[in-house]
Amino acid sequence: AEWAAAVRTVREFVPGGRVLLICHVNPDGDALGSMLGFALGLRRLGVRNLQATFPGPFEIPEPFTSLPGLELLVPEPEAYPDPDLVLIFDVAAESRLGGLVDRLETAGATVVLDHHASNTRFGGVHLVDATAAATSVVAEQLLDRLDVPLDPAIAECLYVALATDTGSFRFDMTTPRVHEMAARLIATGLRPGDISRRIFDSRPFGAMKLFADVLARAELDPAAADGHGMVWTYATLDDLVRHEQRPYVLDALIDPVRCVAEVDVSVVVKQAAEAEWAVSLRSKGAVDVSAVAVALGGGGHRLAAGFTGHGTPGEVIAAVREQLDRHLIH
Ligand code: 5GP
Ligand code: MN
Ligand code: MN
Repeated sequence: AEWAAAVRTVREFVPGGRVLLICHVNPDGDALGSMLGFALGLRRLGVRNLQATFPGPFEIPEPFTSLPGLELLVPEPEAYPDPDLVLIFDVAAESRLGGLVDRLETAGATVVLDHHASNTRFGGVHLVDATAAATSVVAEQLLDRLDVPLDPAIAECLYVALATDTGSFRFDMTTPRVHEMAARLIATGLRPGDISRRIFDSRPFGAMKLFADVLARAELDPAAADGHGMVWTYATLDDLVRHEQRPYVLDALIDPVRCVAEVDVSVVVKQAAEAEWAVSLRSKGAVDVSAVAVALGGGGHRLAAGFTGHGTPGEVIAAVREQLDRHLIH
């Protein structure tokens, strides 16, 4: 990673410059947490002209509405049409930035903080560490190199990001380095129980009923992925309307699905528009779902990836099934 270049670039515009922080569309805990944690760090360095945003519908998932630094988040970064410095968080490809890609061209400098193996290396300075469990790991390191001490607000943001992307410290990426970072964050006075309850263990009654409907139509395909098997289900916009739920509640739906013991691959197909679907893919190790997603126009990590599918749910699944055999991990 280009640490020296990143530190030099940030120092060039801090504290006097206009700084814009952006993360990916439909932001998750890592996107919002790493971005807001870093923004709070820049504020500690005295940056006054500071804004954070993300593309697409400006909707913050309920679990993240208590994150520190939310006041820095704006729907349209109009104040800074031509920022001096743009920092980009948890974005593997420009396609995940929607209309905000324009800001990369008018910016004085850009720094990308990310951890996707599929990162396309867009932007100016690249801090892309595919061995990092979350973008917040990269963000913490850059804050440290900028001599920003952790405070409870920064720590909470980075902790939410880390806990989200490691599945609460359960996934393979959960290295000693991850637990060491978590220890530093918790030592600022965080209450992990409270944070976990808010982020993971709190959802409306209607969301539970929605999950019940969607899980009831799940299908098992033991022959898929050369016999390693796949389980899949889909959720429509009508499901959301019927249960009066927002689309982001479906982000958690992959969790019960990926627990099915009989298969390696799990897929949730979520309707975004008439014939457009946001597809979540998970693998237990037999299939590289990042390669599957890339082949279908998306990206992600070896064991967790996604893409935008077209047609009917059955057609989307047929396209996935066709790719699974090609991307077995031997
Ligand atoms: P999720 O299934 O939780 O939405 O996403 C899992 C992983 O796949 C995340 O790392 C996310 O960045 C990536 N991902 C999900 N959807 C897309 C997509 O449409 N395009 C790309 N490039 N990556 C995606
Ligand atoms: Mn993300
Ligand atoms: Mn991430």
